[in-house]
Amino acid sequence: MSEGVKLDARSVRVYYDDKLALRDVTLQVPEQRITALIGPSGCGKSTLLRCYNRMNDTIPGCRMEGEILLHERNVLALSYDVVSLRRHIGMVFQKPNPFPKSIYDNVAYGPRIAGARDKASLDEIVESALRSAYLWAEVKDQLHQSAMSLSGGQQQRLCIARTLAVGPEVLLMDEPTSALDPIATEAIENLMVELAERYTIVVVTHNMQQAHRISHKTAFFYLGDLVESGPTARIFGEPQHPRTKRYVEGAFG
Ligand code: ADP
Repeated sequence: MSEGVKLDARSVRVYYDDKLALRDVTLQVPEQRITALIGPSGCGKSTLLRCYNRMNDTIPGCRMEGEILLHERNVLALSYDVVSLRRHIGMVFQKPNPFPKSIYDNVAYGPRIAGARDKASLDEIVESALRSAYLWAEVKDQLHQSAMSLSGGQQQRLCIARTLAVGPEVLLMDEPTSALDPIATEAIENLMVELAERYTIVVVTHNMQQAHRISHKTAFFYLGDLVESGPTARIFGEPQHPRTKRYVEGAFG
C-alpha cells in the first residue's frame, strides 16, 4: 500500500440479496485528509461508507466482497474483530442521534464500555473530546443536563465528540450537515477541516459546494459505479468523464 493511504478499497462489491449495489470499487482514502463521496441518491455512497466499519453486517441480506485494507489488514475479512474496527473507525450520521442521557454521559459512553472507570480520567477524556468538537465552551457549565436540550448543531458536535472520545483514526460522516441550518453547517464544516489535521475523514454529501469547499479528494458515484476519483480541484475543474462533468455542473442530480 502506498504511503499516506489510510483505507485502501480494492474491487469492493456489495449486494443486497441478489441486487448488486456497488460494483468493483477501488479507491484509496488518504490519511489526514477529507475524502468526499458524491453523486445522486441511491448510487452507493452510503453503502461504501458502511463497508469501512462493517456497518453493512447489521443489514440482513447484505454481502460484501473484495478487500479494504487498514494497516495492511483486510477489514472485510470475517476474522477481523468488528468491535475494535469500530473503535478505529467512528461514524457520524445524518440526523444527530445523541442518547437520552446527559452531555457528559454521552461522551463518556464509549470509554466506559471500553472499561474506563476512574472519574478523573473520564473527566479528562470528556473535556478533551468536547474541546476537539468545539463544544466545550458552550456546554462546560451544563455537562449534567440532557443532551436533548442542545440545538441540532450542538447535538451533531456532541455526536462528533462522542465518536472522538474512543480515540478513532477515521471518521465516517454520512450527510452530517443535511439536517442543519446554514450557520450550524458552517460550524461543522470548519470543525471537519480542523479535525482533518489529526483524523482521516470520509464524508458522504449531496452538497457539491460542501465537497468542493472542504474536501481534498472527491469520488463520484453513479448507479453503483465509481465513475472517477481524484483531487477535488481536478474533479470539479477538469473532470475526465463526461458524466462527472455534467453532474458537477448541476445538469442532473
Ligand atoms: P446513496 O448513499 O448513494 O444514496 P445507497 O448506498 O444508500 O446510495 O444505496 C445504493 C443502492 O443500494 C440503492 O439502490 C439502494 O436502494 C440500495 N440499498 C441501500 N440500502 C439498502 C438496504 N438496507 N436494503 C436493500 N437495498 C438497499
